Amino acid sequence: MKLIAQCTVALLLCVVCVSGQPQPPVASPKRVLIISIDGGRPDVLLRANTPNLRELLAAGSFTFWARTTEMANTLPSHTSMITGVTPQKHGINFNKDVPEEELRYPNYPTIFELAKKKGYSTALAAGKSKFIALCRPKTVDYPLMPSAKASFTDAEVATKASEGLREHQPQVMLVHFAGGDKAGHAIGWGSEPQIEALEEIDKGVGKVIGTLKELNLYETTLIIVTADHGGAARSHGQGDVRARHIPWIAVGPGIRKNLDLTIFKDLVVNTEDTFATACAYLGITLGDDIDGKPITQMYDGAELMQDIASPKAKPKPATRPAASGTNAAINKSNFTDLLKNLSYAHEGLNANVIGGKLKPNSNISPEFASGADICSGIPQPSDKTLPGWN
Ligand SMILES: [Zn+2]
Repeated sequence: MKLIAQCTVALLLCVVCVSGQPQPPVASPKRVLIISIDGGRPDVLLRANTPNLRELLAAGSFTFWARTTEMANTLPSHTSMITGVTPQKHGINFNKDVPEEELRYPNYPTIFELAKKKGYSTALAAGKSKFIALCRPKTVDYPLMPSAKASFTDAEVATKASEGLREHQPQVMLVHFAGGDKAGHAIGWGSEPQIEALEEIDKGVGKVIGTLKELNLYETTLIIVTADHGGAARSHGQGDVRARHIPWIAVGPGIRKNLDLTIFKDLVVNTEDTFATACAYLGITLGDDIDGKPITQMYDGAELMQDIASPKAKPKPATRPAASGTNAAINKSNFTDLLKNLSYAHEGLNANVIGGKLKPNSNISPEFASGADICSGIPQPSDKTLPGWN
């Protein structure tokens, strides 16, 4: 009997040896998908019929008051989005196709480059050929790009991205839709044709997300949907706040659902934060000179009313269990319950929530104490008054 058992074990070991060539290390299941809607000004997006984007809003945390670089141009802003630093640092200050011999790459590593060093596979599906400047050789495994000075329609980008996902399952991917920007320059920001273009992009977003779901990759993917700039009339650029506001929507493991990030008074999401948030998720350490910060406030277990730390803040591990209800929509009716569940003293605010009510001496502002008005009214100051605006 003992002999039979020994033979069985030996046989099993042989099967493992024969069937298994040396196996590569088990890759992290984490994935990042960044979707950029070129020229996607938040208020125009909100006027459009975009069921897929709205589904992402319900599934994640978001702000329509994020901001892009001061330059507010396509290539510099996208470079900041995926390097985490300002254009002054990354050096991509041009915004056009350049001849191959003049092509320059960013001074800072892109998320593709850093992800590759960590063993992740990478892909870029773009509607404009000038995105080649983001593809330093050997950093993008699957460049799904138009040839020089050509472009892809948004439907083509969606198809390329979906096919790329099916064939290669890249772990870090940027998908860029150009149609909103083209319609803006051709007809105008906020025009009906631009709204129609954004609705087409929404279909493309739905197709790409649908592919992720079909491949059972959706649950492990951090998805960030954002834009490189907005615009006004038929242009965009430096000094125009209508060009600098962008949407920022994040969906993924542990991210609160249906949470408007403007609930955090001092939080300004910058385009460099897309890079930092994605890196933090992938386990990539941020350099000290990175301008972006991970948006930790969107995670379950993060303090709801935390004063936001300095822009250089590094991700803070959640030390408290997620309170029940933090994943739900935060609205007037359940905010009191939420406070009750978050019954711990808050750093700097000394919340002292007892039984869902605030102690009289609490430092929390009356609006929070009453639970009223927290969702009513994005403030309408001039942009100059937004925190950190410059
Ligand atoms: Zn653009």
